[in-house]
Amino acid sequence: AKWVYNFGNGRAEGRVGDKNLLGGKGANLAEMSGLGLPVPPGFTITTEVCTHYYANARVYPDDLTQQVQDALARIGADTGRCFGDPRNPLLVSVRSGARASMPGMMDTVLNLGLNDATVEALAEEAQDRRFAYDSYRRFIQMYSDVVMGLDHEVFEEILEDEKAGLGVEFDTELDAAQWVGLVERYKAKVVEELGQPFPQDPHQQLWGAIGAVFSSWMNHRAITYRRLHNIPEAWGTAVNVQAMVFGNMGDSSATGVAFTRDPSTGERTLYGEFLVNAQGEDVVAGIRTPQNITEDARIAAGSDKPSLQKLMPEAFTEFARTAETLERHYRDMQDLEFTIERGKLWMLQTRSGKRTAKAALRIAVEMAAEGLITREQAVARIDPASLDQLLHPTIDPGAERDVIGVGLPASPGAATGEIVFSSEEAEEAKAAGRKVILVRVETSPEDIHGMHAAEGILTTRGGMTSHAAVVARGMGKPCVSGAGALRVDYKTQTMTALGRSFGRGDVVTIDGASGQVLAGATAMQQPELSGDFAAIMEWADKLRRMRVRANAETPADARTARSFGAEGIGLCRTEHMFFDGDRIVAMREMILADTETGRRAALAKLLPMQRSDFAELFEIMAGLPVTIRLLDPPLHEFLPKTEEEIAEVAAVMDVEAELLRRRTEALHEFNPMLGHRGCRLAVSYPEIAEMQARAIFEAAIEAAAKTGRPVEPEIMVPLVGIMKELEFVKARIDQVAAEVMAETGASISYLTGTMIELPRAAIRAHAIAEVAEFFSFGTNDLTQTTFGISRDDAASFLETYRQKGVIETDPFVSLDIEGVGELVRMAADKGRATRAGIKLGICGEHGGDPASIRFCEEVGLDYVSCSPFRVPIARLAAAQAAI
Ligand code: PEP
Ligand code: MG
Repeated sequence: AKWVYNFGNGRAEGRVGDKNLLGGKGANLAEMSGLGLPVPPGFTITTEVCTHYYANARVYPDDLTQQVQDALARIGADTGRCFGDPRNPLLVSVRSGARASMPGMMDTVLNLGLNDATVEALAEEAQDRRFAYDSYRRFIQMYSDVVMGLDHEVFEEILEDEKAGLGVEFDTELDAAQWVGLVERYKAKVVEELGQPFPQDPHQQLWGAIGAVFSSWMNHRAITYRRLHNIPEAWGTAVNVQAMVFGNMGDSSATGVAFTRDPSTGERTLYGEFLVNAQGEDVVAGIRTPQNITEDARIAAGSDKPSLQKLMPEAFTEFARTAETLERHYRDMQDLEFTIERGKLWMLQTRSGKRTAKAALRIAVEMAAEGLITREQAVARIDPASLDQLLHPTIDPGAERDVIGVGLPASPGAATGEIVFSSEEAEEAKAAGRKVILVRVETSPEDIHGMHAAEGILTTRGGMTSHAAVVARGMGKPCVSGAGALRVDYKTQTMTALGRSFGRGDVVTIDGASGQVLAGATAMQQPELSGDFAAIMEWADKLRRMRVRANAETPADARTARSFGAEGIGLCRTEHMFFDGDRIVAMREMILADTETGRRAALAKLLPMQRSDFAELFEIMAGLPVTIRLLDPPLHEFLPKTEEEIAEVAAVMDVEAELLRRRTEALHEFNPMLGHRGCRLAVSYPEIAEMQARAIFEAAIEAAAKTGRPVEPEIMVPLVGIMKELEFVKARIDQVAAEVMAETGASISYLTGTMIELPRAAIRAHAIAEVAEFFSFGTNDLTQTTFGISRDDAASFLETYRQKGVIETDPFVSLDIEGVGELVRMAADKGRATRAGIKLGICGEHGGDPASIRFCEEVGLDYVSCSPFRVPIARLAAAQAAI
């Protein structure tokens, strides 16, 4: 079998389409090489080797060794060097590269092939002994850490010790002889700690590094990252071995990272950072402050360090041209890594760049305008869930700002929270329901869980491409990075700024748009949903088939829903309307009355309140469909709980408190979710449904008169399992409609339908459709009753299920397509078989989940209904499902 794919020198055995086999990095290196771009020659060991390795007790395929030998010989031929040759050595980098990018999760070894002999050859060739020995000590440090498991800090201690002894502050102050001495100390440390010498044989080094990269697929960080991003373990990683190019060969060398457009704003400008005389990891590590690539960016940043454009104009021009070529070729914003070795540009990586939601919108809209992609592709490209980021609050421009520091605006949105200094604390605080800002000198992949738990992230070191910045943008969390004027002291658990000291638990606000750090909490503002957002939404609306409604009952929610583009209300949960002020008392009175007359007296008090609620909703929705659901929850939810509450109701009803107490106890249910609720209430106490129906009809007439638009209410009966239940309730509704029409002389058109939220309803959907004029899938209850898992108690064990691989996603968040979905599909088919064109919708939480929305499109539902803030997500997801 073929395990190794070559690239470099204007040709390649792989292509960008081979990501599954070569991993993202390998496939893109091959593609760049095939395009004739300057890529150091190398080869990719496929992900199949990784799979083989884990399936066979960590043993490689037999013929791998030979294939690697041949590939090394090829690089040798391309570079005019020879791996292991003490006089003319080929040095290589060894990097991981999975199908999906997993930034910083797995291991890398640079400068491989250096030993006591080849380091001299490198010194000779570079005419720079200092550089050669600096590279060698970096290699010993990296290799010992990654391959031999010796923490890199032991070497840093030696370096610090050496510098202290010499009385110098910076690495750059060490001369060649001092680096030579350090290499000796490093090697001695390896022997001391590990009882074996640092390997001198380049082949042994290479196989050690390859093994370490494959092993890193199973390290703790990688496993966590995969779990958070739903990356299957079975994918494996590839290993890329590539001729070294040196960005640290003096002042005509540099290394950097760049994006073809600004990943924060989406602006079309070459955006990035570089360091002179440095190796790749130095930029990302955030230890030295990087310089801007373009002159414009330098001026905008007010930096006095020269840009790449100014410093190395020729390499810059070639780089800018290459960036443009790659963006046009991939038709997407690219994230690039490059090195300049003595003036010569080398491309080390290209990939689709991660970007903020805001940038994603702008890039998609502008690329469509530039003719690079179609509008359909623009719509398809936006991750619907990411729109959430845009719905994040920002700091109110009129708010007072108590600025205590400024860093880089690394990820947009503003957040307020209590200071915590560790990821563990962030997680604990989150679990306790507190909002925190994670404050670190810098973050590392170990901090992922803490970053997830925090509202926002603040670091005092690192640039726009530092770990904190990249990861926060991916998560959609506000982040301010590199706020250098702030001092964080983990020991004393304090952050000092402008002479003020802040401790753990003190509240701060970070502004990911300006980079400001503010003391205390600040007034926030909701985002403006215009411009690129509106454009994408408009294109999406043209592409989608399904309608998008909102679940809303308060006027405020209904207005928000309209502003987000909802096309009606798919679920108005009327029970939420009964908790306010006097209403709850009247409601309790109704429930606790033991005669129909008593109930009707209480219901008469509720009628005008319900009527005005509904009229307001109808007015806000101005002729759009509104689905109102009859009372659903178990009555005990409304019962008085305290003695005080009982006394209050007793006084209104003019009965003994004791009597009410007994009645309350009698209403107790062992399993209320499966108890006296939903349409069962309407069967027991039809007068409740009658009052609600009357309120709906009278409100419809009132709203139609006021707005001049006809209102056609949709009355929805919950928790139907038996066709006769619906028949019974519908007869009452129809009768009330007839009464109201007779009383007012107005004519009312309305629909009566049901929720499908019990398995029996799905199974008997053909019969239920004889009565129901529409179905709305209540997938919250349908999931609960299909799995037999209580939706209110599931969280405690479903996460365990997920971690142990029993389930992939929480079925209450994303529809269980193969189980619950099967019932939905069946009920939809059966419903249509009885009543052609029956209106079908979904109003469970799944109505706002992109994967579930895709399924709804597949089974041909007419609309999805979701919470107001998810409406934009649903509009986009519905469009993508229809494309
Ligand atoms: C449902 O069960 O899916 C539903 C929408 O109703 P509720 O969440 O109010 O039970
Ligand atoms: Mg329900």
